Amino acid sequence: MLPPGSTIGILGGGQLGRMMALAAAPLGLRVHVYAPEDESPAAEVAARHTRGGYDDRPALAAFAASVDAITYEFENVPAACAALLAGLKPVRPGPKALEVAQDRLTEKDFVRALGIGTAPYAAAATAEEARAAFAALGAKAAIVKTRRLGYDGKGQARVASAEEAAAAVAAFAAPCILEGLVAFRQEISVVAARGADGRIEAYDPVENRHREGILRETLAPARLGAGAGAEAWRIAGAILEALDYVGVIGVEMFALPGGGLLVNELAPRVHNSGHWTMDACAVSQFEQHVRAVAGWPLKPALRFADCAMENLIGDEVERWPAIAAEPNAALHLYGKGEARPGRKMGHVNRLFPMGGRP
Ligand code: ATP
Ligand code: MG
Repeated sequence: MLPPGSTIGILGGGQLGRMMALAAAPLGLRVHVYAPEDESPAAEVAARHTRGGYDDRPALAAFAASVDAITYEFENVPAACAALLAGLKPVRPGPKALEVAQDRLTEKDFVRALGIGTAPYAAAATAEEARAAFAALGAKAAIVKTRRLGYDGKGQARVASAEEAAAAVAAFAAPCILEGLVAFRQEISVVAARGADGRIEAYDPVENRHREGILRETLAPARLGAGAGAEAWRIAGAILEALDYVGVIGVEMFALPGGGLLVNELAPRVHNSGHWTMDACAVSQFEQHVRAVAGWPLKPALRFADCAMENLIGDEVERWPAIAAEPNAALHLYGKGEARPGRKMGHVNRLFPMGGRP
């Protein structure tokens, strides 16, 4: 266990790092943020900040020397950066989780190898392969996704023919996968943690609603059919074990009309669909993650209230005065200057008695 006064290094300067740093402080742990930006939401609340690139080896080595353990708040940490740091200090979650989650093809192969279902998929790096992949899926429609670097629905295109698939892959000019379109009943996720001692704590599965590829709302708990909640936990647990994971993970799933679950994607980090835990649970996902990274015991992931989390995207943040006046709402703002369209500026957790969410 890292004692109070120790320093956790965080790669990345976004809101997830900010909320990690805010959760580390009550445990007496300090945070050193490493990010390429001059100013960032995380650096604003961290004890230390280094501005550096993820390929700047001397700066990364100096950063590692100044911290006791390292984590990250985005999954696209370059493999060489993760490998360099892992040779100097414990990096949690380990490089294997990054390797699996950075590439949608590797990720789906990994999930399938555990006997867990995914959307049907096929790889396509060229227009020719895209035509063949569309035919192999045997579906009327598919989603083309770049294998790497997509987020918030970026790097994705819906296609309804082999020719459209070929055009999409050619336009992305990057290795892609095609996924069959899943007619899901709802989208759910499980945010779970595994401690350095191997113990797993999973929060209740939640329902996620997206608009224009961006998460808008998370409803806790998800209203699931019999057995689906336990199955969602089993899936998250199997993934944590297989990765020998330490820290918080987000596992996005599709709940099918017939009751089955498919894994959509893994986020090897704290997750937007876990923000509700800040106000509705015995321990937030951020404190749980800090505990895991610092080798502390996890706390039970108990829920005290129902919760509806709403992301404040772009100029929606201008509603802050009304939200600040709502009696049962907890407002979390990220300190970002400019409310560009699609930018996550903050979120609000609206609390309801257990069993009472609308
Ligand atoms: P985020 O960063 O928000 O998690 P992302 O860009 O990484 O998103 P995905 O999670 O793969 O991408 O897809 C975004 C959304 O698109 C999903 O939440 C879902 O609503 C829809 N979607 C993705 N894949 C499929 C699929 N195979 N069938 C049906 N809908 C899908
Ligand atoms: Mg997603």
